[in-house]
Amino acid sequence: MEERKIYEGKAKILFDRGDPRTLVQHFKDDATAFNAQKKGSIPHKGAINCQISAHLFKYLYGKNIPTHFVDRPTPVDMTIRRLTMIPLEVVMRNQVAGSLSKRLGLPEGTSLPRPVLEWYYKRDDLGDPLVNNDHIGILGLASTDTLSTVEQISRKTNDILRGLMASKGIILVDMKLEFGLDAEGKVILGDEISPDTCRFWDAKTGEKMDKDRFRRDLGQIEEHYLALFRRVVEHDPEF
Ligand code: UDP
Repeated sequence: MEERKIYEGKAKILFDRGDPRTLVQHFKDDATAFNAQKKGSIPHKGAINCQISAHLFKYLYGKNIPTHFVDRPTPVDMTIRRLTMIPLEVVMRNQVAGSLSKRLGLPEGTSLPRPVLEWYYKRDDLGDPLVNNDHIGILGLASTDTLSTVEQISRKTNDILRGLMASKGIILVDMKLEFGLDAEGKVILGDEISPDTCRFWDAKTGEKMDKDRFRRDLGQIEEHYLALFRRVVEHDPEF
């Protein structure tokens, strides 16, 4: 089968395998942080993230969230719908962590009275700046209608995944989502949902089970990714 690499990112490669409706998203073990200033590799990360993402996308589909997931032909490859991606990252937060802690001077772990949504403009050369609806409008990144649909799906996705993770004794602290438009202009959830793109804390011990272990040199990265995989995927009766 003809295969063409159409994009290589920090943690994933996108292949065109000749089907006009789909692409294949390949998950790598490579890890980067701080706009690729810190580089490394986490053994088995590709397989763990691909399978966690596939599982969460399937779960969300069952709750009427439109996602780009089609199937997972291998542990590290996901067939996805072709979309025109919106150059925005949507961050949903339930507790204070990371950049919000720095920006607002609130301690990490502070519970937020309601989920907080933030937009970031996907531009590596600018360091993915925080933007507001007016910025998005003047840059023409998305229409008002599209933006309000993205917001609605993001809030619903957060509610669903927060509940799912709570049932497994894990706090969904925050997460980053990306969206695209299909050929009919319908808003679809894309990219991945994994410990690379979410903060997951053990509800009992507060232990971090996500990429902060890599960013902050906390050690036992692979062990915690695997433990998360087991709790989210393996022990789920729906798997
Ligand atoms: N995040 C991501 N990609 C990015 C930036 C953030 O997946 O380019 C995720 C990150 O893993 C966390 C959430 O978005 O779950 C919020 O990240 P934050 O703004 O606190 O930034 P950080 O502290 O990671 O720099």
